[in-house]
Amino acid sequence: MATLGNPTNTIAILQKYNFNFQKKYGQNFLIDSNILEKIIDAAEVNQNDCVLEIGPGIGTMTQYLCENAREVVAVEIDKKLIPILGQDTLSSYDNITLINEDILKVDINAIVQEKNNGNPIKVVANLPYYITTPIIMGLFESRVPLDSITIMVQKEVAERMQVGPGTKDYGALSLAVQYYAKPEVMMTVPAGCFMPRPNVDSAVIKLTRHDKPPVTVSDEKRMFDIIRASFNQRRKTLVNGLGNATELNVKKEQVLSALEKMGLPPAIRGEALTLVEFAALTELLSGN
Ligand code: SAM
Repeated sequence: MATLGNPTNTIAILQKYNFNFQKKYGQNFLIDSNILEKIIDAAEVNQNDCVLEIGPGIGTMTQYLCENAREVVAVEIDKKLIPILGQDTLSSYDNITLINEDILKVDINAIVQEKNNGNPIKVVANLPYYITTPIIMGLFESRVPLDSITIMVQKEVAERMQVGPGTKDYGALSLAVQYYAKPEVMMTVPAGCFMPRPNVDSAVIKLTRHDKPPVTVSDEKRMFDIIRASFNQRRKTLVNGLGNATELNVKKEQVLSALEKMGLPPAIRGEALTLVEFAALTELLSGN
């Protein structure tokens, strides 16, 4: 079994199996052992851990995870990769479970129950970038028991998760991530560390789940509906943005009155509000 994480052995595996990269699956494989070691360190993977890897590819990071964790579950959509993983690059490990499925269709809660008795897992992945947001939101919203998510994402998406009000990158993703977790950009990763080279720079971000969300709201879903509506109409004032969002069923006068009670200016835009302020606004608009 060849050790991956370098160009020579990666090319050898790709040629041996005549593998063609599938652009639609966001396939950019890591070829830098230094970065791989840093990801394992950042995720603090140890022998007690059950780790979920999304998109193992040819098994590069999976080898590092199998060496360091107690148990690894890897979900890969591309059926052409399964024989490479099963019969070759991961064949010497007995702590790996391979699932050939779309991660967005897998019941991750059932996996955590079966493999880790429902105790929190760690998620570690070099994500397919075309579905970064649905993967992260799916993990949080479906309440998967987890300690942390350590993932490679597009650099600008990592920045979006970390920023606060008053920056151009601040948006619904920043607020959703920060409601569930503490985001920390661990490192930036140049395009040359992947094969093939992506067109964008990447970053590893660690999302450490909060024990308890930093704000309390009586209706979480409504708060996120309000947040989404505020950023859908970014250029509008909050009063117009929320008043025009038919799905929310609030009148402009109600928004104006809520802003007044909160001591905020009537022409404020959604992008200026903190998570605490969105929570307060949600309560006021719900009559609480
Ligand atoms: N982990 C490998 C590495 O670091 O070299 C590969 C990472 S590559 C960026 C993303 C992987 O996710 C690919 O293997 C791709 O086939 C897989 N993938 C894409 N969409 C997926 C999905 N919906 N569910 C599961 N895996 C997916």
